[in-house]
Amino acid sequence: MSFFSTRGGSCVTASQAILNGLAPDGGLYVPAMFPPVSKEKLTSLAGMSYCERASAILRTYLEDFSIPEIDAALANAYGAEKFDAPEIAPLRRLDEQTYVMELFHGPTLAFKDMALQLLPHLITLSARKNSEEREISILVATSGDTGKAALEGFKDVPGTSCTVFYPLEGVSRVQELQMVTTGGSNTHVIGVRGNFDDAQTGVKRLFASQDFAERMHAMGKTLSSANSINFGRLVPQVVYYFSAYAELLRANRLAVGEPVNFVVPTGNFGNILAAYYARSMGLPVGKLICASNRNNVLTDFFEKGIYSTHRTFFKTTSPSMDILISSNLERLLFEAADRDGELIRVWMRQLQECGSYGVGDQRREWLAGVFYAGCANDLETGWEIKARFQQDRYLMDTHTAVGSRVLREYRQKTQDDTPTVIVSTASPYKFAGDVLAALEGREATEGMDAFACAERLEALSGVPVPRQVRQLRELPIRHHDATEADGMAQAVLHALGGA
Ligand SMILES: *Cc1c(COP(=O)(O)O)cnc(C)c1O
Repeated sequence: MSFFSTRGGSCVTASQAILNGLAPDGGLYVPAMFPPVSKEKLTSLAGMSYCERASAILRTYLEDFSIPEIDAALANAYGAEKFDAPEIAPLRRLDEQTYVMELFHGPTLAFKDMALQLLPHLITLSARKNSEEREISILVATSGDTGKAALEGFKDVPGTSCTVFYPLEGVSRVQELQMVTTGGSNTHVIGVRGNFDDAQTGVKRLFASQDFAERMHAMGKTLSSANSINFGRLVPQVVYYFSAYAELLRANRLAVGEPVNFVVPTGNFGNILAAYYARSMGLPVGKLICASNRNNVLTDFFEKGIYSTHRTFFKTTSPSMDILISSNLERLLFEAADRDGELIRVWMRQLQECGSYGVGDQRREWLAGVFYAGCANDLETGWEIKARFQQDRYLMDTHTAVGSRVLREYRQKTQDDTPTVIVSTASPYKFAGDVLAALEGREATEGMDAFACAERLEALSGVPVPRQVRQLRELPIRHHDATEADGMAQAVLHALGGA
């Protein structure tokens, strides 16, 4: 399988796409085609373990990796010491037509682990295949969860380092503590005075800078990305959509070929794009429901066909979705534009220069055939957490609740009763303060820190506080650096020992 840039250029192998992260023309790598998965293959997935399912999917894309290489990487990534659920991505049933796929059983309690536990193995294998001997320096911009997941994934991996930028005022207390207490000799965490888009734009600028690349090379290092622009982040995410379907087949809740809807709490559009890729490979998907918080730039885009960043940025109770520029949308646009890289270049230039672009009515209609988009504000999200807990005794985090709420609205509007999987992207204990406030009122949490809120949630729900949260209390803070958004290059060079 070869990979192309969404902006028209490049033709590289899977390992080169993973190693480079971003294509040289600034585009994102996309596979030359979507390898079809037959009904027979789909049926056979039902009898497999998560790692076996992952192996079956990954090998269709990663053609320059051997099957033993893929299987060894999977065994390392999804071992019992990493994930606290043997199914890896367990499916819970809420009611007759509604399921929750829990993607938060990894070391950092968010779905980012699904990809970032595997990515370091894919990157080091890719380096070897391409005779890359320099240190691979991973740069990450995070809205909260990617950072910690990348740090855990790359911590003490030989031949790599991992530097994370996070918005100083834009992440939850637990998210921040998780990052700044990270151990390992090759990890760096730097707070940025700005929001997530500032951090992400800054990192993109570093990747695009020839001067910065040369300074890194002079230090014996080369840059790579662990953000969801990297195809190596995307492909592990395709797996769990197949796995959810296989679980439904196994439980006889579905006959092969019958459609399922997925609701995905969305920020950078990586998770839901993976669902679209699974659909393109033949997974029977009805609608893909794109759920946003008050930063509803995607809801507007799917409705009007116009993407516009001329809007206010809001801080919400679902901070990992507080994003105005959804990078991975570019890969969907590429499909919507019939893979016309020139058109993508035009739209991305308009986005950069004018802050908006329009895709036209025909393409908007095509998108509406596959996607439904909706949004929920903080108040609605809180109601949803309470409603699910009271109705179904199910405790969900703020991001998952945005999805659940949008599903409720979608069903009311459309009467579509297709079985639907809500993709749960984080443990409620990562956002314990806001989850508790939803259940018992904001006053009830006054004066309580994140740990006290977690204890109270445990008492209410019977769901145990994960040890990763308990531990945070005792761990020393190891990272103190902060920078202005325009000082990020200097901060990286300093952290990596160059200046
Ligand atoms: C990253 C994240 C999201 C958004 O996922 P994208 O792939 O960026 O759309 C949603 N919820 C949580 C908890 C996350 O960490």
